[in-house]
Amino acid sequence: MMVPVRCFSCGNVVAEYWEEYKARASSQDGDEDPGEVLDDLGLDRYCCRRMLVAHQDLVDVVAPYQ
Ligand SMILES: [Zn+2]
Repeated sequence: MMVPVRCFSCGNVVAEYWEEYKARASSQDGDEDPGEVLDDLGLDRYCCRRMLVAHQDLVDVVAPYQ
């Protein structure tokens, strides 16, 4: 599904970082360490970091069946 707009735990907006995180940290497009990318983006709290690390982008897969 879509990346959640806000962190479930603290309410910080995290969706704005998703595109850059995906581009830089995915094994196909970039070779950067995901932890270093999150540090670079300024996501320090582990509740916010897990929002991006644990996210699986399925919106394009599921959309035709709605
Ligand atoms: Zn958080």
